[in-house]
Amino acid sequence: MKQTIAEKILSEHSKKDVFAGDVCIADLDLIMAQDGTAPLAIKAFEKMGKKRVSHPQKVIFVIDHNSPSPSIGVSQLHQLMRNFVKKQGINFNDVGNGVCHIILPENGYVKPGNLIIGADSHTPTYGALNALAVGMGSTDIAAGLYTGKLWFRVPETIKIILKGELPQGVFAKDVALFLIGKLRADGANYKVIELKGKVIDSLSIEARFTLCNMMVEAGAKSAILEVDEKTEKWLKRHNVKNISPVFPDKDASYSQILEFNLSNLKPQIAKPHRVDNVVPISKMEGKKVDQAFLGTCTNGRLEDLRIAASILKNRKVHRNVRLIIVPGSREIFVNAVKEKLIETFIKAEAVVLPPGCGPCVGTHQGVPAEKEVVISTANRNFKGRMGNPNSFIYLASPATVAASAIKGKITNPSSLFSEK
Ligand code: SF4
Repeated sequence: MKQTIAEKILSEHSKKDVFAGDVCIADLDLIMAQDGTAPLAIKAFEKMGKKRVSHPQKVIFVIDHNSPSPSIGVSQLHQLMRNFVKKQGINFNDVGNGVCHIILPENGYVKPGNLIIGADSHTPTYGALNALAVGMGSTDIAAGLYTGKLWFRVPETIKIILKGELPQGVFAKDVALFLIGKLRADGANYKVIELKGKVIDSLSIEARFTLCNMMVEAGAKSAILEVDEKTEKWLKRHNVKNISPVFPDKDASYSQILEFNLSNLKPQIAKPHRVDNVVPISKMEGKKVDQAFLGTCTNGRLEDLRIAASILKNRKVHRNVRLIIVPGSREIFVNAVKEKLIETFIKAEAVVLPPGCGPCVGTHQGVPAEKEVVISTANRNFKGRMGNPNSFIYLASPATVAASAIKGKITNPSSLFSEK
């Protein structure tokens, strides 16, 4: 029988042919947890009674959610993580290195064909590099630490073919929001989404990360792309060698095959308080904003900062808006300094924070006031997501966020590109 990419990866890792609906126990290539979830995983692991993590070289912990720590309680949890990684000899990225989903690929941890679990819902980001990457709870992570394996019910796959060419001012984030609007928040529940087509071919690897990252918001267990020349070059640049890309069989069985032509796509906005509450920007233009946020595992990459800087250059953030910018990793921060993007941001009167999740998680930085409106490049706009349940979060691309920060209201970035 013919197989999808997910079926092939799970077959390879469980050493038997498996298909959607089968249950298997599979060897894991990588296990990740961040500071919101690792402490729970450590406690669950210790309760299981085993002294040593089975494959420490395959485990990585990251402190990114509350980075640096805002309170004594969080500092204690960070200390628990630091002590555990020292004792177990596992890989570690402390405060200031950046967001887990950006630094793992950047540091060459992710390979095509890998099976990865992460105690974070946006783990499917790594699917841009042809890995099957799945978000898990802390107890599953503890089981992975214990055995180096985990059980899976093999997911069905939805194939989405994206045709056409993206117009100017329209980016991967707009594509992601458009797809989530179509699929709805539960449209891909427990399924993998395989994305392909001319639009995917045209996207950079950075933009592909954005797309895979966001598919979680349609309920997807994971999202995955095929390897092409761009992927190979990107992996080479990040010191990943000897790759074994996984392609689907021509007649693999899909639960759904969807096709969209995106040549006329407009910038998209997700309105509060659901990511699938998506409208074209024309429906929201003119809505006043109080805060704009550029960053996160969705849109905190160098390409995103470059797009925002191209709009912010020689302009100022509107006097009624705070623009907060968080580079996704130390490497991105360094490159943004070298390329003078940070200078552009500071001259535009934006606030630049150190690499990490920043205001996305709503626990320490950039919490909006009552009834304030935020336009954000993050992946979630749930009530209270940024720390105040009485604020309103609109999701958009880096270009739309930068344009809106300048104008003080939701603004189609295409108008600013053409003003230059
Ligand atoms: Fe989660 Fe936001 Fe951090 Fe991404 S940036 S890992 S969505 S808290």
